Order: sequence, then structure tokens, then C-alpha cells
Amino acid sequence: MNPHLNILVIDDETNICEGINRALRPQGFVVDSANSGQAGLQKIQGGGFGLVLVDVMMPDISGIDLIPAIHQIDPDIICIIITGYATVELAIHAIKQGAYNFLTKPFSVDELILAVNQGIEHQRLSLESQRLQAAEAEASALAIEKTRLEELDKTKKLFFRLMTHELQAPLSAILSYLQLMLEGYLTPEQHKEALQKCIVRLEEEKKLIGDLMELGRLQAIGPVPDLAPVQLDETLQEVAEELASQAGQKNLQISVEIQEQLPAVNGSPKLFKSLWENLLGNAIKYTLPGGTVTASLRLENDQVVGQVRDTGIGIPAEEQGHLFSEFFRARNAKALGLRGTGLGLVIVKRIVDGAGGSIRVESHEGQGSTFTFNLPPVAKPEYQGAGDE
Ligand code: ADP
Repeated sequence: MNPHLNILVIDDETNICEGINRALRPQGFVVDSANSGQAGLQKIQGGGFGLVLVDVMMPDISGIDLIPAIHQIDPDIICIIITGYATVELAIHAIKQGAYNFLTKPFSVDELILAVNQGIEHQRLSLESQRLQAAEAEASALAIEKTRLEELDKTKKLFFRLMTHELQAPLSAILSYLQLMLEGYLTPEQHKEALQKCIVRLEEEKKLIGDLMELGRLQAIGPVPDLAPVQLDETLQEVAEELASQAGQKNLQISVEIQEQLPAVNGSPKLFKSLWENLLGNAIKYTLPGGTVTASLRLENDQVVGQVRDTGIGIPAEEQGHLFSEFFRARNAKALGLRGTGLGLVIVKRIVDGAGGSIRVESHEGQGSTFTFNLPPVAKPEYQGAGDE
């Protein structure tokens, strides 16, 4: 029992209020009273009451109808109804309205004390159970967060292991060539060839560092990058022009199909150029001479849909699940000696995700691949529509 518990009696009969006060004060309760429903609500609004004894018959409002208003102010207050005419209907109605118990007039001091103590115990248990439920919810949220952080830690460790390996590989190769030259194992004619190989590996290292830096920047930006409306068709045209000579050197046919009047999408032009560079660059790299590469942009189901299709080497079906993982390189690409960092598609996915879109791939080994991404268009400002009318 809480000795400092404040009890409010709402009853227009002052002798009942006084009687309850006399009975409960020696038990350590502080009893206050109100002679109408409105006066009672005002006192409850002031706070501090744990239990209310409320008379059914009052001039301004029925005590039963007062209970929802009391619980709106404090849902944990225990309400005990005092009535001279207890019927089953009344009891059902009162319980439906949120009453905890009944006292039928006239009641003895013992009956009053028993009802109040039961009410207080009920309140204590329900508050305790609320506290336990909140603690349980907090504990399970913490457990989920712990698992998420552990996963993140594992992924980070794996990433660093792979990154160190990838960074070391070209350097070890360069070191070996230089040592062979220095120790006189290569003829002067072989020197040029070795130096050219060193340059190729250095270019690889440079590309890897560039991709890692871009990935780091994307990570630092987080899911909400500095968004502004961008015309994707413009970024596609620019990248296609930049890569045209590379495609020409491989005797590839490259074409661009753009639907007219496409809406803008949210993002940054630099990132969208990087997206096209990676997708078109891959299509050119992994398509054998004589093949075709097609990039397209259209509006479909209220989404801007970008696609890069090629007739290249394709991706083995069993490896496609790893496509957007860091440092993944398919076995057929490696077997053909086509070099890469395995980071381009990770960058692409981060850019698409960051702009609120999604990306998918369809590929058949030996036949070609199609990468398709969807992006939500920038919402048209409402005043534009109004101005058009
Ligand atoms: P990179 O091309 O630098 O290796 P990416 O992350 O861009 O890295 O691609 C990962 C792997 O996915 C590539 O190594 C290649 O095996 C495969 N891949 C990507 N695009 C294509 C494509 N258009 N055709 C065939 N394979 C592809």
C-alpha cells in the first residue's frame, strides 16, 4: 500500500465525502473531495490522484459517464463507483466505461478499505506489468540492434580483408617485375614489356583507389544525398559520347534510345554520370567485338526506367546472386583476362538506392545482360498544374 496515495471522492453528498475521509485517513490515505463531476475533473487535471470514488447520481453528470473523461486525463486512475441502486445492467455499463469496482450504499468501513486496497493493488500490478512490457520491448529492440551491429562489424571486417588483398595484388606484381629487372633476369628488350605491365597494374591500382574513394564518399553521404532535380537523359547522352570511341575501338555498335519529355529525378548529376559510366563501361568491357550495346530511358508506371543491354559474355546464373557485393568478379570475366575492381556495381546500387530507386539484372551466359533500374520522378509542384489551366 502506498501511504501517500491521494484519493478523490466525487459526490454531491457532503456527509458521504466526510465519512470516507474519516474512514481512510487513519489508513494513511490523503482524501480530497469534489461535489460535482466538473469540480472532480478539474481536481484530477491538477494531477496526483491514484484512485477516485465516484457517485453515480450527481446533478451535473452521471458518475459512470464521468469515468471515460477521468481516464482521458489519466488512464491509470482506478475508478470505484458508489451507488445506492446496483443492478446487473448498471454494473455491465460501468465496467464497459472503465470502472474497476462497485460499492453499494450503505457500505461499512471495512468494505470501503477492502475495495480501496484491492484497487490500489490492481493499479500497482498493472503499472508493474506495463513497466515490464516496456522493458521487454526495449530489451528486444536492443537485441535486434546488437545483431545488426555485429553483422555490420562482420561485413566491415570482410570488406577490409578483401580490400587489403585487392590493393596488395597489383603492388606485388609490380614489385616482382621491378625485382626481375633489377636483378638482371630480363633482357633489355624485355624491360619495355615489363614496364608496360607495371603501368597496366598501376592503372588498375589507381582505378581501385578511385572506386574505393567514391564508395567511401557515397557511404559518408548516407541515404539522403544532396538531392536536386536532374535530367537523366542529359547525363546519359554525355556519358555515351565519352565512351563512343572506346566502343568504336572494340567494333561495338552503341545506341541510345530516349523517350521524349522525361521528368527529372532527384539526385546529383555527378553521381548519375558515374552510374551510366559504370553500367555502359561494363557493357562495353564485357561484350566481345562485333556486339551491340543499347542504353535506353523511358517512363513506365510513373517511374523513370533506365536500361543498359548488351550482347556480351553474360553472367553465370549461379553467380548472379553475388553481383552487387564488394569485389565480386564473375569467373567468365576473370577467365577472359578482363580486369576490374568488382566495385562498379556496388557503387551503382548505392547511387540508385540513395535516389529512392531499385535495380535488377537479367543475364544469360554467352548471350548478354540487361541491367534495369527504376527511379521515382521528381514530384510536379502543384502550382504548375494550377497555372496550366
Ligand atoms: P568490375 O567490372 O570492375 O569488375 P563491377 O562491380 O562493375 O566490377 O562488376 C562486377 C562483375 O560483374 C564483373 O567483374 C563481371 O564479372 C560482372 N559484370 C558486370 N557487368 C557485366 C556485363 N554487362 N556483362 C557481363 N558481366 C558483367
